[in-house]
Amino acid sequence: MANLLKGIKPILLMGPGPSMVYDEVYAALAKPTLGHLDPYFFTIMDGVKDGLRAVMNTKNPVTFAVSGTGSAGMESAFTNLVEPGDRVLIIVNGFFSKRMEDVAGRLGAKIDLLEFEWGAPIAPDKVADQLQKGPYSIVAMVHAETSTGMRNPVKEVGELVAKTGALFLADCVTSLGAMPVDMDERKIDALYSCSQKGLSCPPGLAPVSFSPRAVKKILARKTKAPNWYLDVSLLIKYWEGEKRAYHHTMSSNLIYSMYEGLQMLMAEGLDKVFARQIAIQKLLGEELAKMGISFLIPPELRLPHLNVVNVPAGIDEAAVRSRLLNEFQIEIGGGLGALAGKVWRIGLMGHTARPENVDRLVAALKACL
Ligand SMILES: *Cc1c(COP(=O)(O)O)cnc(C)c1O
Repeated sequence: MANLLKGIKPILLMGPGPSMVYDEVYAALAKPTLGHLDPYFFTIMDGVKDGLRAVMNTKNPVTFAVSGTGSAGMESAFTNLVEPGDRVLIIVNGFFSKRMEDVAGRLGAKIDLLEFEWGAPIAPDKVADQLQKGPYSIVAMVHAETSTGMRNPVKEVGELVAKTGALFLADCVTSLGAMPVDMDERKIDALYSCSQKGLSCPPGLAPVSFSPRAVKKILARKTKAPNWYLDVSLLIKYWEGEKRAYHHTMSSNLIYSMYEGLQMLMAEGLDKVFARQIAIQKLLGEELAKMGISFLIPPELRLPHLNVVNVPAGIDEAAVRSRLLNEFQIEIGGGLGALAGKVWRIGLMGHTARPENVDRLVAALKACL
């Protein structure tokens, strides 16, 4: 049997995730596998919890990594917090907030959607009006909307939601590690993310954190969480305390990779990382402007690390993407939903955000156009 792995070429990952993985993280992944109940492995898990609390800027004891990708983080937040019949408000202005409707709907939530056009900003006064139609048990939104490249006003909405007593759920899949999420200050009660975007680790883990208020609701549920694998009330017995109880076989190697990814972030310093994201975006923006390529989102609402840009008129965008991949070994993303065929999504997330990567992409794009 031919070994297909020999055919893997290194690809410069500049799409909406996965992002480039640090060499140190690959090395961590290859460390010897430990048992999921090995006491030394517990110390590494504790290190991951501490690192996640630092990037999330939270004091929440219940902060850990779910086995699964960002979508498992989304399932975890909704599955644990929604009880049948709960009124849930979802604020929608892109692909991923729309996915929340599907996830929460399966759990028997009574959902209200507050919808804005894709790529239109979320207006806090409209949110305030909608909250009057509550009371809601949960209000959910996406911080960094990866489908449009828009930064949503989590702080403003968090303040409004806090006044109502609802729990505030924020999707920080694309923001964590690349921009401040400030969980406690923004009054977020449930936050989830992924390993393969801002954290520059391989996919497979979903950081989550629950505020004491959220944990209280989870532990007081009248019915069990409808998904055993993601049940936080069981998982905390594995992730916390002196005695740890087996729940499922945590991937020790993936945990090492996240541990090392968090170490890399801390070593550089979070503020420096966030500043680097902004500086590299500026570099890309200047180069694209010279080529006549514009951004979908105005500068003040733009994500610093996920650039959604308009495909120039008359260009077959899919053909350009496939040439970039096949000839130049560079991956960028296409548009989702209504934006399919109209935009490219260029990720400069985490370790991808380096000047040499921008140079390589710009040279290749010039050759393709
Ligand atoms: C990528 C993404 C997800 C889904 O994460 P997966 O790791 O692909 O499961 C959810 N929400 C947002 C905002 C995302 O960008």
